[in-house]
Amino acid sequence: MTNVQTGAGVLAGDERMLIDGELRHTASGAKFDVIDPANEQVAGQATDGTVDDMARAVGAARRAFDESDWSRDLEFRYHCLTQLHDALERNQDRLRRVLVTEVGCPVSVSGSQIDSPIDEVKHWAEHGKAFEYLVDTGMHDTPMGPARRKIHYEPVGVVGAITPWNVPFYLNIAETVPALMAGNTVVLKPAQLTPWSGSEYGRIVAEETDIPPGVFNVVVSSANEVGGALSADPRVDMITFTGSTATGRAILAAGAATVKKTLLELGGKSAHIVLDDADFNSALPLAAMMACVMSGQSCILPSRILLPRRRYDEGIEILKTSMENFPYGDPWDPGNMQGPQISDGQRRKVLGLIASGIESGARLVTGGGIPEHLPVGYYVQPTLLADVDPDSRVAQEEIFGPVLTVTAYDSDDEAVAIANNSIYGLSGEVSGEDVERAFAVATRMRTGNVSINGKSHFGITSPFGGTKQSGLGRRNGAEGYQEYLEGKTIGMPA
Ligand code: ADP
Repeated sequence: MTNVQTGAGVLAGDERMLIDGELRHTASGAKFDVIDPANEQVAGQATDGTVDDMARAVGAARRAFDESDWSRDLEFRYHCLTQLHDALERNQDRLRRVLVTEVGCPVSVSGSQIDSPIDEVKHWAEHGKAFEYLVDTGMHDTPMGPARRKIHYEPVGVVGAITPWNVPFYLNIAETVPALMAGNTVVLKPAQLTPWSGSEYGRIVAEETDIPPGVFNVVVSSANEVGGALSADPRVDMITFTGSTATGRAILAAGAATVKKTLLELGGKSAHIVLDDADFNSALPLAAMMACVMSGQSCILPSRILLPRRRYDEGIEILKTSMENFPYGDPWDPGNMQGPQISDGQRRKVLGLIASGIESGARLVTGGGIPEHLPVGYYVQPTLLADVDPDSRVAQEEIFGPVLTVTAYDSDDEAVAIANNSIYGLSGEVSGEDVERAFAVATRMRTGNVSINGKSHFGITSPFGGTKQSGLGRRNGAEGYQEYLEGKTIGMPA
């Protein structure tokens, strides 16, 4: 939780995009509306960039990479990213107000979406400055006599970054700052529901840093085809993407023609295995909070709770109480920790999945609909579904709502099998007093990350990513930086 001044109210962000150093509108002047999901009103507009705007942005990024010193001047990049960090700090309150307005993220929990990513800019600047770009691997025997080999780490080139709406400012930073620090040039395509978290970033870069024209571009648009154009453009060397698995597949396919390097962080359907020796009174209220705090709009949310059959009723009761008492409503009220869903379409999707769960035999324990006391805004009640069939849609598809499903299991082996019964493999959670046993269970979950007893796996210094259809590659940690570099091995005389 952050301690912020609230009551500042709705704030419209910058309408413009950033292409080749210029803050501009699209040539036709077309704009699209940005809806505040907490009141369903138009909060403002954004310029509606086109495929032509995207082509210009990619051209500018290509030129900046090929013709400027950006990729070779580490000191200058450090200077620019330090400036960016300071500029973002100066704009912190404005960025927070834009975030609450376009996402409906409760101001009380906006720290992880605004303050943390701003700190991460500093982290990447320092990490990149200290990184060893030339590694001497010593002498190697070859048929032609001994050779010294050095590995030179070089930027990949032009990076296209495509981001979603659930944590827009954080992901705009996470996908672009390590790329820039590593010497790449970047075109960012923010999600259409949250254009301002991207356009404000572009404005700050243009007005408050020395980052040269073309090095960083932002193209906002209401059209998916503009993201499609970025992912297919032969002048782009790498795509970094966070979003749905369906869109991730389309991006992989679009990049196949030019064999683009692709970093994908996709959907999840993470399980929380609650072992029979777990402290239910600590694990389950936390599980309920995790489900509600971003209105369930988090890819790493452990949304499938697996309870041991002999303590099943006890677990359901604790989850029910926790969800019924969760504070939600107006995101500007600092007492609330859950806001609305991002859009009417997302709310309908969530309600449809809840209904499909009930149809397939699940028991609705609490919630399940639109709260009567919040008729305006895209709110969904915190919802608990018990007796959920692990093969049913509601247990297999990502819901992205404040919904927990609960399934009983009889043995640790069965719990692991249910957890792994998913096309996804992003995160997981294990709760249990015997930490060694919990750790052993964690190692059997086919996911990229696991938390035990609420101890978070997620942070800037630790690699994060998915297995199976949850993604390719890693963000964060040393691995996350190296994704934006290619190691060139050079053989040379001793
Ligand atoms: P959601 O379905 O939850 O809106 P998506 O994964 O479709 O999430 O969207 C995430 C981002 O991907 C957005 O910026 C969106 O504009 C972009 N996008 C959607 N479709 C495509 C596509 N075919 N190619 C490239 N980007 C796309």
